[in-house]
Amino acid sequence: MLNKSDEFLEDALFIRELAMKHNKFFEESIPLIASENIMSPMAMEMLLTDLGFRYAEGLPHKRYYQGNQIVDIIEDKVTDLGRALFNAKYVDPRPLSGTNSNMAVLYAFTKPGDTITTPALSGGGHISSAPFGAVGFRGLKTLNYPFDVDEMNINVDGTIKLLKQAKPKLAWFGQSVFLFPTPLKELRDTLEEIGSTVVYDAAHVLGLIGGKQFQDPLREGAQIITGSTHKTLPGPQHGIIIGETTEEKWKKVQRGVFPGTLSNHHLNAMAALGVTLAEHLDYGEAYAKQIIKNAQTLGSELSKLGFNVLGEKNGFTKSHTLAIDVSKNGGGKEVAEKLESCNIILNKNLLPYDDNKKSMNPSGIRIGTQEVTRIGFKEADIKELAELISDIIIKKKDPEVMAEKVRDFKSTFNEVQYCFGKFKPYQYIELFK
Ligand SMILES: *Cc1c(COP(=O)(O)O)cnc(C)c1O
Repeated sequence: MLNKSDEFLEDALFIRELAMKHNKFFEESIPLIASENIMSPMAMEMLLTDLGFRYAEGLPHKRYYQGNQIVDIIEDKVTDLGRALFNAKYVDPRPLSGTNSNMAVLYAFTKPGDTITTPALSGGGHISSAPFGAVGFRGLKTLNYPFDVDEMNINVDGTIKLLKQAKPKLAWFGQSVFLFPTPLKELRDTLEEIGSTVVYDAAHVLGLIGGKQFQDPLREGAQIITGSTHKTLPGPQHGIIIGETTEEKWKKVQRGVFPGTLSNHHLNAMAALGVTLAEHLDYGEAYAKQIIKNAQTLGSELSKLGFNVLGEKNGFTKSHTLAIDVSKNGGGKEVAEKLESCNIILNKNLLPYDDNKKSMNPSGIRIGTQEVTRIGFKEADIKELAELISDIIIKKKDPEVMAEKVRDFKSTFNEVQYCFGKFKPYQYIELFK
């Protein structure tokens, strides 16, 4: 097989072998990272099409290049499906990621030197809304909403006070540790009074909103939703912007996307997003319900087993996410690494009372139930998972024995659910012969 001129073939094959190994690793592991998911067979097919090799700059039917006649019809369809799922006047399916969506909106509504209000990093805010992320790239300053640890949410009275003082052009909401709905309704009068554009970053909870099981930000005072399309919405790594606003503001958003912050918009991922939106219109409600049920079950089981699960007062969570203080179990870093050695994958996370400097060894871990739900976990399976986690961290059972147990348990979940067609997850699909 080795041709003399194929001097670097072995290097390529080395990478390919590692990719196969990676698939196998995830096939044998329990995936609990709150920002990840797996795709359906039809959506995955879209990623492999010729769409991924083409350019379509601008908006449908007004392109700069030829060759987009079919792309235009696809993009119109994806946009319509997004409008239907989110009950919104406007959708832009072009952003390449959640961060890109945020950059486009920041570009549209702010000028360098402006101050905007955002959730604090320690309160679960995302790096793209931090001074060293996209917000800083736009040259903006931030003021953070006060956080209430008991409620695991921004503090309403303090936030109203801050908004009245700062009168930001842009009020930014939404987090990466997103346990409970943002109190938008309670802030609505203040936001209207000061005339801020209200942006809700739904990267994490987009699939729950589409499944009508979280909050409905566009009906509660937000004009713009930004999001990633691969967290609780189980689509491709891509972004989306959704709007219920004036035509004038929406045009600004569209210009913020192109030419503001991207040129081509990865047409294969956009098509995969369209398939995912259609699937979510059919299955999203059942999927989102089960995700949340599973998260709440995991919260109460882990709490019963002795873990310090935050948000207890409000039932631990109303989303896919749990935040757990593991400072008495060795800290976030040690716990996450120990679980990884037993094939349970999750991440360490800052908690609201942690200093940002502790981000490499914070007090917490974060868990999301969206991917395990996608492969069929129900409440009884979640109870078994809680036992496994407790056996590893609290009972300190032998890691090798536990890894074997986790692999055995995982091997019983063999089908991607809540989508069209049947598909075994984590398969390696070979094209090279
Ligand atoms: C994940 C996330 C993003 C960024 O998403 P990418 O698609 O990874 O760029 C933005 N905001 C929040 C709140 C997130 O959690």
